[in-house]
Amino acid sequence: MPRDSKMSDNSSNFIPLSVPVIRGKEWAYVKECLDTGWVSSAGKFVDRFETETCQYTGAKHAVACASGTAALHVALRIAGVTAGDEVIVPTVTFIASVNSIRYVDAQPVFMDCDAFYNLDAEKTRNFILHETAFTNGHTYNRHTNRRITALMPVHVFGNAVWLDELLPLCRERNIKVIEDAAESIGTRYTTGRFAGRHTGTIGDIGCLSFNGNKIITTGGGGMILTNDRADAERAKYLTTQAKDDEVRFVHNDVGYNYRLTNVQAAIGVAQLEQLPRYLEIKRTNYSAYKQTIDRIPGLHLAEGPAYASNNHWMYAMQIDRAIYGSDREQLMAKLAGHKIQTRPLWQLNHLQHPHANCQHYRIERAQHLLDVTLNLPCSVDLTPSQIERVVEVLRQKA
Ligand SMILES: *Cc1c(COP(=O)(O)O)cnc(C)c1O
Repeated sequence: MPRDSKMSDNSSNFIPLSVPVIRGKEWAYVKECLDTGWVSSAGKFVDRFETETCQYTGAKHAVACASGTAALHVALRIAGVTAGDEVIVPTVTFIASVNSIRYVDAQPVFMDCDAFYNLDAEKTRNFILHETAFTNGHTYNRHTNRRITALMPVHVFGNAVWLDELLPLCRERNIKVIEDAAESIGTRYTTGRFAGRHTGTIGDIGCLSFNGNKIITTGGGGMILTNDRADAERAKYLTTQAKDDEVRFVHNDVGYNYRLTNVQAAIGVAQLEQLPRYLEIKRTNYSAYKQTIDRIPGLHLAEGPAYASNNHWMYAMQIDRAIYGSDREQLMAKLAGHKIQTRPLWQLNHLQHPHANCQHYRIERAQHLLDVTLNLPCSVDLTPSQIERVVEVLRQKA
């Protein structure tokens, strides 16, 4: 694969975990913004980015946002989550999922994960069926007596959450489903009730992120996906300061300055054009890692669920310490010594200081996965020789 030396720092020998790859029409599109003066939160690239994200994902409506976190915050407002409500969220996710819940003064209820690092659908179903009561059209937590207004499944590392039973149950129980699809653009269900559909288009609202570490980036940015026109209009309204009269500055709600700029959207349009190729590269590199790593005793590259076509955003490696001889921390330090950047899972969110008093339900698997998992370099511009360098270090005995 041809590589432009301008676009990556080959001199340092450092292999980063996940960095942007800019080699499409980004320069041309950004130049157009600068040449025309359309650099701010209006312009044709914002519209184009929204339209083309709809075309790619199959969502009916898309509203660009300043970040994935902003998208989640607005999604919760649109879903009607208000102060004192509860939102079910996995303990294994990036902190932004949980913070967005706190922004609307709601409380997270933490769930365990399944074998794919995702919200455990079976336990979540059990929780809703046995730990809550459905009264006057709302679901109440028997333990806290608070109303549960939303569920936030997170498609961790691009692995699709199994929603076949959860979604209908949430519909029955008047619980809105907000998908945190920040990491899963490009992931589609292949079997089951949602076969053919993209993650982020299944629930009431889906949120994407275009942060610098995701598969495609706008530098910083996000997107709200929905099939509901009124929700999309409300998303646009809330992300633009809730303007009811833009001449006389009348605002009938509390809005936010959460719009994406045209310059960022220009980068996004160029990145989206390359996404299909990026996904192929991700898959090829996953296979290259998998074939070699699974032959090393005590190491195993995690697989995605068989019911979806995975975007392979992260390459999660699992370490059996007893067989391999060193643990996650030791291996991470050793790789760092070879200028190879790796990262563990996030600290479990039910243990994070600001959320430590929140309820958690039967969390049994998450700690084990945290202990044994190390994410390997996964940038789209990773070369075969860099993959070989990583595997070579993994092969060395402790
Ligand atoms: C990246 C990420 C977010 C937040 O997106 P930003 O664009 O960085 O605000 C939210 N949830 C998950 C799971 C993420 O990985």
